[in-house]
Amino acid sequence: MIDSIFAEREVLDHPVAQKVIKRLKHADVFEIERYQEMFNKRQQNFRIQKQNPALILARKHDNFVLPAPQGFGLDAQKNYYFSHMYNCIYDCRYCFLQGMYSSANHVLFVNYEDFFKAISDTIDKNTDTSLTFFSGYDCDSLAFEKITGFAEKALEFFTNFSSVELELRTKSIVSETLLNRSPISNCIVAYSLSPSNLAGVLDNKAPSIERRVNALKTLAKNGWPVGLRFDPLIYCSGWENLYSELIQDIFTDINIDKVHSVSHGPLRFPKEMYKKITSLYPDDKLFSFPMETKGGIVSYGTDIEQEMSLFLQSELEKYTTKKKIFRCLV
Ligand code: SF4
Repeated sequence: MIDSIFAEREVLDHPVAQKVIKRLKHADVFEIERYQEMFNKRQQNFRIQKQNPALILARKHDNFVLPAPQGFGLDAQKNYYFSHMYNCIYDCRYCFLQGMYSSANHVLFVNYEDFFKAISDTIDKNTDTSLTFFSGYDCDSLAFEKITGFAEKALEFFTNFSSVELELRTKSIVSETLLNRSPISNCIVAYSLSPSNLAGVLDNKAPSIERRVNALKTLAKNGWPVGLRFDPLIYCSGWENLYSELIQDIFTDINIDKVHSVSHGPLRFPKEMYKKITSLYPDDKLFSFPMETKGGIVSYGTDIEQEMSLFLQSELEKYTTKKKIFRCLV
């Protein structure tokens, strides 16, 4: 899957880098000075690079923990996110990463210890507020777990902070790390979901919806809190039936007590990002809909967003309580 690893000279001896190199034993390893030389280079073609991305091993020096954008979180008083990786092995057509980075190569920051130190400092500074930390903002939290082992370390860390929540956002069905250990009540495994035929077209390389739903039900059965994330909502002919069937399917035979929260959010892009993504895939059906631009944001427009949001809300309320349902507006 990965043919080439580019490792910053200063991390080559780091135990995480060594483990990754061992796990990807068929990949060629090249030394570099700084990951930015490769990753931030202009004139790269994200679409072409995505066909065979390399893995870059690097050290992160700052900004380990950042405040989550307004509207991203659920009901915690403060929400933060951290990104031990940039980019993702999946290739969802609506993914904002393809509009944010000029490179499709994966960057893995191997100094996990500095992330946990920064998270610990943030917790110490916020003892009087409820906190949620989100992993999987610039990557998928679990998709690369067999190579990185990051989630395993994060779970060990958050076991010691039971009043602070960790959300692992994912589309991956790689759940051994979780199933091989006792559930942690403050760790939510949140699955991004959309109707099967839409995911089949848009969520390239990601596990099918059937497999995701099975994985999340298994996790719930094993005592893990799960999150359901209907985000982004995709508008198409017959969307009401498609979402209604998906929701019914998920809530059939699930341990409802383990459904931590359910969120839904519209398809939205900053204007420049939308321009960049559509230039990569000018013929994609997703971008053939006449979108609206308002306040620098490209979207389906308020009427469609409102209609979809109200519909999702009323469908979800058939199965779960209002207080577990949130609208995500990032
Ligand atoms: S799973 Fe998430 S991060 Fe990965 S390509 Fe899809 S939208 Fe992007």
